[in-house]
Amino acid sequence: EDELSPYAAPAERDLETSLRPSDLSEFVGQHRVREQLELVLHGAMRRGNAPDHVLLSGPPGLGKTSLAMIIAKELNSQIRITSGPALERAGDLAAMLSNLVEGDVLFIDEIHRMARPAEEMLYLAMEDFRVDVVVGKGPGATSIPLDIAPFTLVGATTRSGALTGPLRDRFGFTAHMEFYSAEDLDRIVKRSAKILGVDLHDDGAIEIAGRSRGTPRIANRLLRRVRDFAEVRADGRVTEEVAKQALEVYDVDHLGLDRLDRAVLNALVRSFHGGPVGVSTLAVAVGEEPTTVEEVCEPYLVRAGMLARTPRGRVATPAAWHHLGLEPPAGDQL
Ligand code: ATP
Repeated sequence: EDELSPYAAPAERDLETSLRPSDLSEFVGQHRVREQLELVLHGAMRRGNAPDHVLLSGPPGLGKTSLAMIIAKELNSQIRITSGPALERAGDLAAMLSNLVEGDVLFIDEIHRMARPAEEMLYLAMEDFRVDVVVGKGPGATSIPLDIAPFTLVGATTRSGALTGPLRDRFGFTAHMEFYSAEDLDRIVKRSAKILGVDLHDDGAIEIAGRSRGTPRIANRLLRRVRDFAEVRADGRVTEEVAKQALEVYDVDHLGLDRLDRAVLNALVRSFHGGPVGVSTLAVAVGEEPTTVEEVCEPYLVRAGMLARTPRGRVATPAAWHHLGLEPPAGDQL
């Protein structure tokens, strides 16, 4: 991802894995989701059956994959991991499903990006633990029903709105993951610093937590970048001052907005006079995919009170103008 050199990448990725919380007690924040999930899992375990299928919904980097792994661990089950885009043909999914062992957790990341035929196969699997395998072609084709082991599907999506109705209806429980508070992120970076052996001071942790866009993955990434800076340009200690200087180098501003976030705000304010403007137009203006702007940038800009989604398009709030050092136009902008 982003600023990492190819040489450093594998080691950095191992670090990411070592930072993953491995059970519910290590999973910081998301109290509501955790409480609900505990009830769903423990209720099913008491009755001795596989729990309902679970949908995890929320912006990237909030811990959906971690939570899926934790669910499997709580259930003493194996987890099989795949993703929507990997299931291009129904056959790919059929192979995956028929290899499941009773009680397995099947994790499908980006489940909203699954191809239609695979999705239709999944309905039956979720409901009746059955797949219909089509053999042959044309008028002679027959479909052979195949039983599969009872399993629990955990789907993750950054866009639950993009799920088809029938698929959404087959999940017994949807966990809505929210951005993390600064206090939660503070705990997360401190925990990560301990694992990585970083000399992180309290004020340094606050600085990093406050600029992490409410997102643990970003908090961990910033911690690693600040650590680099502390070791190369200072004495290795991550203090507030060191964190501030480092984050400046990496173009993370005091609200945690990164280059793309600011590019979106700049385009919205400067090129489109604050909007309203459609998301695809906005995406073209910053040279990004509309889905990236919509699923990665916008949720946080909305939560930070800088951008509003209206039926006519995206609109900059006065806070956005002020953040760019500009005066919002007088009138009924919002
Ligand atoms: P994506 O949607 O892109 O798959 P994700 O939401 O699944 O992302 P994860 O990969 O689970 O995100 O989390 C990213 C990293 O953030 C993890 O490796 C972990 O270190 C950290 N993390 C996430 N959630 C928590 C948490 N609640 N407590 C502690 N660390 C967390």
